[in-house]
Amino acid sequence: MKAVVVGGGVAGPATAMALQQVGIEAVVLEARDRAATEAGSYLTIAPNGLDALAAIGCLDLVRDLGFPSRRNTMLGATGRRLGSITLGTPLADGTPALTMKRPHLTRALMDEAARRGIEVRYAAKVTSVRTEGQRAVAVLEDGNTVEGDLLVGASGVHSAVRTAVDPGAPAARYVGLTNFGGITRNTDLAQDLPGDGWQFTFGRHAFVGLHRTPTDDVVWFVNVPEAQISRTQRADTSLDQWRARLAGLVADDAGPARALIESGELELAGDNTYDLGHVATWHRGRLVLVGDAAHAPSPSSGQGVSLALEDAVVLAGCLAGCLPTAASHGTGVPAAYDSFVAARRGRVEKVVAVGARSSSSKIPGRIGRVPMEAMLRVVFRHLVTDRAQDWITGYRVSQSPAGRVVTAASGAPAPGRPRRP
Ligand SMILES: Cc1cc2nc3c(=O)[nH]c(=O)nc-3n(C[C@H](O)[C@H](O)[C@H](O)COP(=O)(O)OP(=O)(O)OC[C@H]3O[C@@H](n4cnc5c(N)ncnc54)[C@H](O)[C@@H]3O)c2cc1C
Repeated sequence: MKAVVVGGGVAGPATAMALQQVGIEAVVLEARDRAATEAGSYLTIAPNGLDALAAIGCLDLVRDLGFPSRRNTMLGATGRRLGSITLGTPLADGTPALTMKRPHLTRALMDEAARRGIEVRYAAKVTSVRTEGQRAVAVLEDGNTVEGDLLVGASGVHSAVRTAVDPGAPAARYVGLTNFGGITRNTDLAQDLPGDGWQFTFGRHAFVGLHRTPTDDVVWFVNVPEAQISRTQRADTSLDQWRARLAGLVADDAGPARALIESGELELAGDNTYDLGHVATWHRGRLVLVGDAAHAPSPSSGQGVSLALEDAVVLAGCLAGCLPTAASHGTGVPAAYDSFVAARRGRVEKVVAVGARSSSSKIPGRIGRVPMEAMLRVVFRHLVTDRAQDWITGYRVSQSPAGRVVTAASGAPAPGRPRRP
C-alpha cells in the first residue's frame, strides 16, 4: 500500500516514517524549495511530542538539535513573579522538553525520512487532490500527478487539502497576536536569566519570551497584540525597523528584553498567529488530514508540534490494521480513518481550547495591568498548574493502542522505558 503525503513540515515526514514502520510506502511532497525551509525561529517540543518521536525512532536525532527546557517562569511588567510551571514530566529516560530551531526540526525529519528510503520531494506544490475509486491522486503545479492508495494532508494551518476533505471547514482564525523571534549571541545578558527554561513577561505592550541556551546565547520572541500584518507591510519594513519597534514596545518593562532585542538578530518578523478549532470532517474517500491541517492550537499552547507527531503515530497504528490482502486492496482505509478520528478529536480540540485561552491572556483587556497581574497570579497558583496540565504533556501516545502497534513495529524498546546506563 502506498501513501501520498502532502506537506514536508513536521506531520508530513513524521507520518511517512510512522507509515513505513507498519509497512506502508510513502512519498512526501513539499511545496517549498529546500533552501526556503531554512527560515524560522525557535519552538519547544513537550514530553508528549518527544514520546511520539521515540515511537518513530527519531528521539536521538531530535535530542541533538535542541537544549533542555524544564520550566516556564512568568513575570509581570515590573519583573514581579506571577508563577511558574514545569514543561511536563520528562520521559522515563530523563529527556525533558527540548527547544530548537523550527527549521532544524523539519529539515532533520525530512532528511531522516529520505535516509530511510522514503521519497521526499521539494518544490512539489500540490494544487488539487481527489479520490478516484480506491486511489488517491495529487496534482502538482507542473500538471504531473502522484497517486497512491491513500493521501495524507499534512499541509499546515492554511491547508488546501482541508477544503477538499471538508468544503465547509473553517479557515484558520487569527488569534490577535503577531510574532517576532530572534537570537542574541554570546551575551552577558544571559547571566540574569534562568538556565532551565523560558522566562515569560506579560509586558505593558507585548508578551516576551526569553530562553538562555547552554552556550549563553539568548533566544527570544515577542508577541504583539495588534491587527494582522499585511504582506505589503512586511515587505516594506526592514529588520532594523522591526527591531527598533519591538525595542520600543518593551522599553517600559523590567528585564533585559530591550537590550537583547537591540543587540540581537531578528529571525522571524511579522508572523501572524492562527489557530484552528473544530473541523467537522477529517477524512473523505482516500483523503485524511493530520497536524495543523486538521486542528491547530495557537503557538501559545506550545503543543502544535507535539500533537502533529502524536497524529502521525496514531494514524499509522490505525492503518496497520487494514493493510490490504491481495483481494481487499486496502478497503479498510475509511474504517481506519474513523478509528484515527475517534482516537484523536477529543484530545486535540481540548488542547486547541487551552491554547486559545493562553493567547487571550497575552492580550491586555480593559481591566488594566495591576488587576490583570493579580488575576494571573491566582491563575498560575490554582488553575494552570503542573497537575492541571499533566493530561497534555504527560500523555504518552506510545502507550495508546495504535501507538503500541507502531512502537512494536519499529523493533525499538518502548520509549516509555528508561535507557540502560
Ligand atoms: C511562531 C510559531 C511558534 C510556534 N511554537 C511552537 C512551540 O513552541 N511548540 C509547538 O509544539 N508548536 C509550536 N508552533 C506550532 C507548530 O509549528 C505547528 O503546530 C507545527 O509545525 C504543525 O506541523 P504541521 O506539519 O501540521 O504543519 P507545518 O509545520 O506548517 O507544515 C506544513 C507544510 O506543508 C507545506 N505545504 C502547504 N501547502 C502545500 C501544498 N499545497 N503542497 C505541498 N506542500 C504544502 C508547507 O510548506 C509546510 O512545509 C509554533 C508555530 C509558530 C507559527
